[in-house]
Amino acid sequence: MFSGGMIGSGTVYAERQDGGHKAGEAGQGIVDEAVRQDPRGIGEARRIGGMGGMMHTAESSMSPAAPRRTRIPVLEVFGPTVQGEGMVIGVKTMFVRTAGCDYSCSWCDSAFTWDGSAKDDIEWLEPETVLEQLRDLSGGEWPGHVTLSGGNPALLPQLGGLISLLQSGGTVVALETQGSRWQDWFLNVDELTLSPKPPSSGMKTDWTALERIVARLMEAGRTPSLKVVVMEPAGGREAAGDGKKAEPDEPGSADEDLEFAMEVHSRFPAVPMFLQAGNDRLEEPDAAALREHLAARYERLVDSVMADARWRRVRVLPQLHAWLWGNKRGV
Ligand code: SF4
Repeated sequence: MFSGGMIGSGTVYAERQDGGHKAGEAGQGIVDEAVRQDPRGIGEARRIGGMGGMMHTAESSMSPAAPRRTRIPVLEVFGPTVQGEGMVIGVKTMFVRTAGCDYSCSWCDSAFTWDGSAKDDIEWLEPETVLEQLRDLSGGEWPGHVTLSGGNPALLPQLGGLISLLQSGGTVVALETQGSRWQDWFLNVDELTLSPKPPSSGMKTDWTALERIVARLMEAGRTPSLKVVVMEPAGGREAAGDGKKAEPDEPGSADEDLEFAMEVHSRFPAVPMFLQAGNDRLEEPDAAALREHLAARYERLVDSVMADARWRRVRVLPQLHAWLWGNKRGV
C-alpha cells in the first residue's frame, strides 16, 4: 500500500532475528489454523479478505498455538529510504510492512501481503524485536521516522504497542490505511494517511466507516490526510505487463477515479487532499521505460486537475519510488 525507495540497505526479512517464529512455521501455521477453524474453507477466507481474513480467523480462535496478541505479523523491515507517496513524500524513513489486507485491489503493488504468495515469510514479532531490526538498519541509532505499511496495518489492534515503543525514543510514526477499520491507536499516529480506493481498484468504499474514522480523529484534534490513487483505464492498463510501450491514454480517461477523488474531497473539505498518479505497469522490468510512462500519466493528471476549477486545494504527486527504482520490491 505504501512504499518507498531503498537506499543502501537490502530488504531484511524478520527470520534472522531471534524474537519471532521461524519463517514458514508462522505463515503456514496461520493458514493451517484458518483451514481448521473456518468452516467455509480457505477459499472463502481468501474471498473475504485474503491473508488478512485468514489471520483474523486464526487469531480469533484463541487456540493454545495462536500467536500472542502483542506480536505483529511482519513481512518486511527495510530502509533507510525515502517515502515515495502522500503527505510525507521525500522524508527519510524506515519501513515496517505488516501482512494481511481486507481489500484485494486490482492494481495492488503489495499483493504479496495478502494473496498468500509470501505467507512463508511472515514472522510474528514482538515490538522490541521490530525496534531491534530498525536500529540494526539505522547504524545502531533509534530511527527518526518510521512508516508502518501493509497490507492494511489497521487490521492489527496490537500495533499500538509498537507505535508507543517507537515514540518513546522520539520516532515520528507514519501510517497509511484505506480507512475501512478503526483502531484506537489511530489517535497516536503522528502522520496518518487515509487512502480510500477508487473504482479502478474494484473495491467499494464504506463511506460510513470512513466518515466515522475522520470524525473521531478530528474530534480528538488529529487531522489525517487523504490520498487517492488515480488510474487511467483503456490503453495504459491493457498494455500493462507485456513490456511494450502502451498507446497514449486518452486525455481525460481518468475521469471515474478523479470523480471519486472529488467526492472524497467534497465529503472531507477540511482534510488535506493528495492525488497520486498510479502505476499500471507492475510487471515492467525496465525502470527507465516505466519512468517515461509514469511521467506522461502524471502530466495528464496534472492537466486534468488544473483544468477543473473544483479542485481548489490539492496536491498532485507522482509515485516517487517507482520513478526512482521501478517495480523493485522492498524499496
Ligand atoms: S488496500 Fe488495496 S492497494 Fe492497499 S494493500 Fe490492500 S489490496 Fe493492496
